[in-house]
Amino acid sequence: MVSFVGAGPGAVDLITVRGRRLLEQADLIIYTGSLVNPELLQYAKENCEIYNSAEMTLGQVLEEIRRGHAQGKEIVRLHTGDPCLYGAVREQIDALEDLGIVCEVCPGVSSFCGAAASLKAEYTLPGLTQSVIITRAEGRTAVPERERLSLLASHGATMVLFLSAGLLQQVRAELLLGGYAPKTPCAIVYKATWKDEKIIRGTVERLPEMAAENGINKTALIVVGEFLGADYRHSRLYAPDFSTAYREAAP
Ligand code: SAH
Repeated sequence: MVSFVGAGPGAVDLITVRGRRLLEQADLIIYTGSLVNPELLQYAKENCEIYNSAEMTLGQVLEEIRRGHAQGKEIVRLHTGDPCLYGAVREQIDALEDLGIVCEVCPGVSSFCGAAASLKAEYTLPGLTQSVIITRAEGRTAVPERERLSLLASHGATMVLFLSAGLLQQVRAELLLGGYAPKTPCAIVYKATWKDEKIIRGTVERLPEMAAENGINKTALIVVGEFLGADYRHSRLYAPDFSTAYREAAP
């Protein structure tokens, strides 16, 4: 079996129970060395073959998986966070399935959830926003024109930017152009849940300076929105005058 496993955002004990079991059973592990915490490899069996995909091409990754699968090995492709976001997993799964190799996916804790936990924040606050926009600044990977940051920013929703910590001049310009006020709160969360995590809080108008002053240009998320501020309404769900399927409203 080939399992694509989400490693979680960084802290070793934030992999799922299932993900850890798959690591423990694996005969071959290919991990994303640029972002996955290498301490997770402590769960591998002593004779497990281990490869770092940061040094490999897609073709080489697929070839190792094909070879291992033909030898009847249990294989884990270990990706950072959850594989469903910016993981380049679809191209691997499709190519393997074309070869008749069936895969499964084990989810993980995405870094955007790890960052919220570190911030002790709730992205969806009543009275402010009920939506989270997950996106990225355009770098070497193109972003469709209809998803321009300024267009997405025009919703004023919570925004989480992956892969953008090195592009903050452009990010600030687009966020302001889209309509976020210059004083909208934002945070840079560097290496969320790792031992060397850093959180820098500030406002949209100072985003590039916040990163530069702290020497951050990668492995960070940018989170933006009023959810980081002090004003919000309480949820109706727990309001005493609100009936639910589980609880009658107080008279
Ligand atoms: N699949 C991953 C994202 C992979 S893209 C996930 O679900 O988290 C890589 C980008 O994710 C990095 O450039 C950075 O923006 C973000 N990232 C990954 N781990 C991070 C962490 N621990 N803290 C902050 N950002 C992180």
